[in-house]
Order: sequence, then C-alpha cells, then structure tokens
Amino acid sequence: MSDLVSLTRRPTSPGEPAAAVRKVFVHTFGCQMNEADSQRMVELLGRHAFAPAASAEDADLILVNTCAVREKAEQKLLSALGRYREVKARRGALIAVSGCVAQQEKERLLARVPYVDFVFGPDNLGRLPEMLARAGQRERFAETGWMDSEEYVFPRADPEAARGRVTAFVTAMKGCDNVCAFCIVPHTRGREVSRPFPDVVAECAALADVGVREVTLIGQNVNSYAGGCDFPSLLRRVAAVPALARVRFTTSHPHDLSDALVEVFRDEPRVMPHFHLPVQSGSDAVLLRMRRDYTVAEYMGRFEKLRAARPGIAITTDFIVGFPGETDEDFERSMALLERARFDNSFSFVYSPRPHTGAIRRIGSAPEWVEVPREVAIARLERLQAAQRRISSEAMVRQVGETVEVLVEGALDGEEGRRFGRTPENRVVHLDAAPAQAPAAALLSVRVTRAHANSLSGEILVPT
Ligand code: SAM
Ligand code: SF4
Repeated sequence: MSDLVSLTRRPTSPGEPAAAVRKVFVHTFGCQMNEADSQRMVELLGRHAFAPAASAEDADLILVNTCAVREKAEQKLLSALGRYREVKARRGALIAVSGCVAQQEKERLLARVPYVDFVFGPDNLGRLPEMLARAGQRERFAETGWMDSEEYVFPRADPEAARGRVTAFVTAMKGCDNVCAFCIVPHTRGREVSRPFPDVVAECAALADVGVREVTLIGQNVNSYAGGCDFPSLLRRVAAVPALARVRFTTSHPHDLSDALVEVFRDEPRVMPHFHLPVQSGSDAVLLRMRRDYTVAEYMGRFEKLRAARPGIAITTDFIVGFPGETDEDFERSMALLERARFDNSFSFVYSPRPHTGAIRRIGSAPEWVEVPREVAIARLERLQAAQRRISSEAMVRQVGETVEVLVEGALDGEEGRRFGRTPENRVVHLDAAPAQAPAAALLSVRVTRAHANSLSGEILVPT
C-alpha cells in the first residue's frame, strides 16, 4: 500500500473492504492543455491506488483543474466548489484546485474558500502524491513554484491508460513567451519550455502501439516549439510514426507560421488539413494595442499560403471583441475579415480584463484605451457569431453529396446504433451504424447525406 493511500484513507466502516481503492474525480475547465494535465493526474494517481470516480458524489478526492483566461471561468470555479462542499461534508472528500486560477490566486484561494484543502500550479502536477500525503495530515498549503526549464520533466502519458482510445493529446511544449496585452497565460503558465523531440516521438509511438490512431500535439504556442528541432521537423517526425493515421496540433501564433510549416501541409498527408490560427481582430490598430505583432495583411498572406499548399484546408480562428478602444470601424474590420477569410469556424469572446496583463494597466489611460461598454461588446459579439454561423453552415452544406474519410471515435451519446467520427478537416460526422459496421478506430469512406449546425450525417461506403 502506498503512503498516499494510507495517509488519505478514511477510517474503514463496517462492511467496507479493508483494501478499498480511493476514488478521484477531476473537473476540468479550459483548454486542451488542461485536459491533458487532468489525464496525467488521473494516470499518476492510478499508480497510487486511486481509481477514477464516475461522479463527484463517489469521490474521495475532488480535483478542480482551472482556467483563468476569462473572468467567467473563475466564477465557474467558485460555483463548482460550492457544489463539492457538500460532498466534502458527507464523505470527508479532499478538495484540491490546480491549473491557472490556482497559479494566479495561490494562498488567496485557500483564504477565500476555507474548505479547499490544497492548491497547486501546473508545474507541480508531478508532486501530487506527496501533496496528497501532506493534505492527509490536515496541512493546508499552496504549491505554485516554477521549475527552471532545465529541470522541468514533462509528465509522460501512460500508454496503457490510452488503450481503447482513438485519439490522444501529446504535450509538445508548455508556457508562452509572447506578451499579448489581453492574456494571462504567460503569468499562469510561465516561460516556454519545449519537450525534447525524442520524448514526443516516443510517446506518439507508444500510443500508436496501443491502438491510438490520431495524436494532437499541444502547447499554448505550439508552433514556436524548440525541443532539439523546430516545429515543422517535429511534425514530420511524428507523421512518420508507423500506425498513426492522423496528426493534428494546437494552438499556433500567426507569427510562427513559417514557410517550412506551410510546406509540411503540402507534403505530409498524415498532417490533417485543419489549422487553428487565432487572429483576434481585423483591425491593425487593435492588433497593435493587443501586441500581436502582425497586421491583417500579413495574417492573410500566411492564410493564403496555407490554402494554396493544401486546397480545402479548414482554417479556424479566435476573435476578441470589445478590446479597449475598439471603435465601430475597428469592429467592422473584424466583420469584413470574417467575410473575406470565410473561416470554417471561430471561437469569439468579449474582452475580459485580466490581472497581470498589459491591457488592464492601460484601460482608460488614453482615448485609444477607452473601455468599450459591455452592452456594445455583447451586441458586436452576437453579430460576429451570427455571421460565423451562416458561413460555417454554408461550408457544411457544400459537403453534402461528397465522399469523406471518417475516423470513427465511438458511440454517439452512448446510443446503440449511432456512431460518430471526424473528417480530416475535423468536422464531426454522425453515422447510423452498428458498432460492427463502424468500429472505433476504423477509417471509413462515407458519403455525406445531411448537414446540421455543427455536424454532418453520412452513410458508409466502403472501408478505406
Ligand atoms: N496561444 C493562442 C494564441 O496565440 O492565439 C491562444 C491561447 S488563449 C489561452 C485562447 C484564446 O482565448 C485566445 O485566442 C483569445 O481569443 C482568448 N482570450 C485570451 N485572453 C482573453 C481575454 N482576456 N478576454 C477574452 N478572450 C481572451
Ligand atoms: Fe496568450 Fe498570446 Fe501566449 Fe496565446 S500567444 S497564450 S494569446 S500570450
């Protein structure tokens, strides 16, 4: 029995098996980096006699892995914690908070939420067993130190835990060295550290060995990767892993979209034709204040090169509306960019002032930094999102009648006889098929029969 288990065990109640395994429930907010961190935590705890709990109500340990990118994410954390308080009262569960809000708030979170047992930042994930032992001794603490880049060891995915999965995230780098004026990530995730390429490739190969067919390389700014080779070379190495059918990555900064990366899209069919390339605004004046270091013309130059290298590639983006000083004309430029680029999809947000960022210090300091009234920002967001819905749906409708390759991921919402998978462009396709006709991990040739708001329906032709 590990220290972790003995130190965190409640007294055994009559009838309970003496060696009962503790259960952990992880609630994840935010990006793919957080999802990957949550998986690593569950795997690590699995090696210390913890099994995943189906719900928080069954858990002995509740981990809330947080996002601080927008203020709303913090409010969601507080309301989730309110719900978990009852589980703590009933079962004596431990509650821990990790991720970006933990890193940002540190001890303040312990003071603000007295039933949280401990708090830890992203660099401390590997010390979870030791932290649990301390919490089991009724110590309350916040572990939010950084590790120097030379010391940092990336938590490795456990391939056995991925057995049965079709797709997996593989961490390529962490942190961000950019200084976008709206963004808290450099403060909560620290400086960029790239994982050595042999480790990334070995992890992809180990995942492929247990049946994973698609990997997504992740990092806050993944295309500035520098782990012994550059990002285009990393992609080529991963695409060469036998038995991997598909390679994706996210998220990229436009200024690191090199010609070499564009060439990978031209040459490597296993690198999927989807690129998430956040633009943030269609106005050069706003981009300058955001410190994005590209103009709309430069962004579109890279965008066109991608489309030329891989015709049909799906390009998606992020927009922020209501950044300080955004005028009606600036916003119209974002609308015009959306219509011109016809992004396949976009994630759009009202600007949320974040602590420790360049913008928050400047709001209201000059006419070009005037705050945009919330109702104006919301009205702009609604217009942008309505236009995006129309453009996305036109792109989906154009696919009807086409034959697409679908990588089957599994059952749709647990329904017998309904399966789903994704096209190379990352569009979800629903299939009316039995598991034997569309087994997980199969690559199927599918004819698209109908388009919906966020997905397609299709019928299976022949296996490819
Ligand atoms: N690294 C990526 C890039 O360079 O574009 C983005 C990562 S960021 C965590 C994800 C998205 O959240 C951003 O693209 C941006 O649109 C949005 N975001 C970040 N900070 C924000 C803020 N303060 N208010 C609103 N949206 C924000
Ligand atoms: Fe944030 Fe900018 Fe870094 Fe993206 S590139 S994580 S938006 S600071």
